[in-house]
Amino acid sequence: MLFWSVAVVFPLPLVLTYDFLATEPEPLKFYILLGLIAYTWWLLSIVLSVRPPWLDRFVGLPSIYGLHGMLGVLAIAAAYVHRDNSYSPSRLARDLGDWSFYGALAVLCFSVFFMSGWLVDRSRLLLKVKRLLETVFRHQFSVWIHRLNLVIVAMICLHTHLLVRVNQHFAFMVLFDLYTVMALGIYIWKKWIAPDTCLMGTVMSNDARGGSTRRLSLNLDSEAATLQPGDSFFLSFEGSPSVSREWHPFSVTDDNRETLTFTIRQHGNFTRRLGNVEVGTRVRLEGPFGRFESIVQGREREAPLVLLGMGAGVAPLLSLAAAHHTTRKIHLLWAVRSPEDVYYRDVLEEYQAASGGRLQVTTRVGRFRREDLAGALSPEAVAKGVFFIVGPNPAVLANQRLLRRIGIPARRIHQERLTM
Ligand SMILES: Cc1cc2nc3c(=O)[nH]c(=O)nc-3n(C[C@H](O)[C@H](O)[C@H](O)COP(=O)(O)OP(=O)(O)OC[C@H]3O[C@@H](n4cnc5c(N)ncnc54)[C@H](O)[C@@H]3O)c2cc1C
Repeated sequence: MLFWSVAVVFPLPLVLTYDFLATEPEPLKFYILLGLIAYTWWLLSIVLSVRPPWLDRFVGLPSIYGLHGMLGVLAIAAAYVHRDNSYSPSRLARDLGDWSFYGALAVLCFSVFFMSGWLVDRSRLLLKVKRLLETVFRHQFSVWIHRLNLVIVAMICLHTHLLVRVNQHFAFMVLFDLYTVMALGIYIWKKWIAPDTCLMGTVMSNDARGGSTRRLSLNLDSEAATLQPGDSFFLSFEGSPSVSREWHPFSVTDDNRETLTFTIRQHGNFTRRLGNVEVGTRVRLEGPFGRFESIVQGREREAPLVLLGMGAGVAPLLSLAAAHHTTRKIHLLWAVRSPEDVYYRDVLEEYQAASGGRLQVTTRVGRFRREDLAGALSPEAVAKGVFFIVGPNPAVLANQRLLRRIGIPARRIHQERLTM
């Protein structure tokens, strides 16, 4: 709630300054203020898109991206009312305002469909349509469409500078430009300067596991000091002819801070090429991100951990199991597509042997159904277990619903979906 209140606080200095200086009739001023609020929400959305790891530790990536997306929607609504009710003698200012509005609306619709799970996670049909369209509109194409928002922000900035009613207030315009320069400066810093300060590692091994998964180990140049169990990193492979440098998030699979292991399911344009990444390839790592460990630490020690993973979603859960199997009661449930996909059987057996009976493992080929979960979970786990679900979005949502039906309250269910 505190985090979402940023959306109210962020526009305030600009809005109050304009309200204090401007002298036009109140109704017109109100619509201009709405336009200002929309603009600051777009700027805030840009700032959030750089996903600062320190903010992730407080609220988590899903909340950061949730607010990022909601601000896009709210800004369009505010911009719509602003556009419909305000006027300007400058033709260019009007045109820039119109183009920005329609451009932002088009980018928003595109992004909601291709980049958020708001629609496709809730409809199999839409998910199929998305996958079909993605054979042409690759994910990286969507990323570039999304970046058109920067051009739109530049057009709105120019639109504001052309409005005599607004640009006559020098103090306001200084503040307005400060907002713009700061937001775009943070974005540029993140894209071009911050990567130089990222952790670096070298691919040590890259093996096939199961039907369509790879286990990739990276030897880091320096220890990942802030890494916690369950965390993920965004990886960018440098100088590999096989894969592009685009950033993709993957979870660390154990609790080693010097050699990081990732479990990657190959199902899309980028991950399918990962098999060709050679030992010795340099990798940049942005992160770590994640809140699972702070949630574990925030719960009483006696509460069992119930880890429910689908496919490669087991990765962050294995990392939690690695860190806690000798001290806490853990039940790890792992759903896989085929028997050969239980590729971590050896690791699990090792943890089980060392756990002194604390670690229980249930694997299943195919989805867990309600009766499977109800039968597998102990009364203690149902009564006070802390649940972590990780997997593809629709599967996470389905399992979350199953757990709720079994009687697990929402506050004890935590999840990570393997898309943004
Ligand atoms: C926090 C987090 C941790 C993850 N951990 C793992 C893991 O341990 N193992 C694993 O196999 N997968 C993990 N994923 C999912 C993985 O990042 C995506 O499946 C992968 O980047 C998609 O690449 P692709 O080539 O397979 O798909 P593409 O063909 O490039 O795109 C297919 C779909 O994948 C999604 N996607 C594509 N690129 C990204 C991206 N950069 N970020 C997020 N989603 C994207 C989009 O929904 C897209 O529509 C994780 C995702 C997140 C958000």
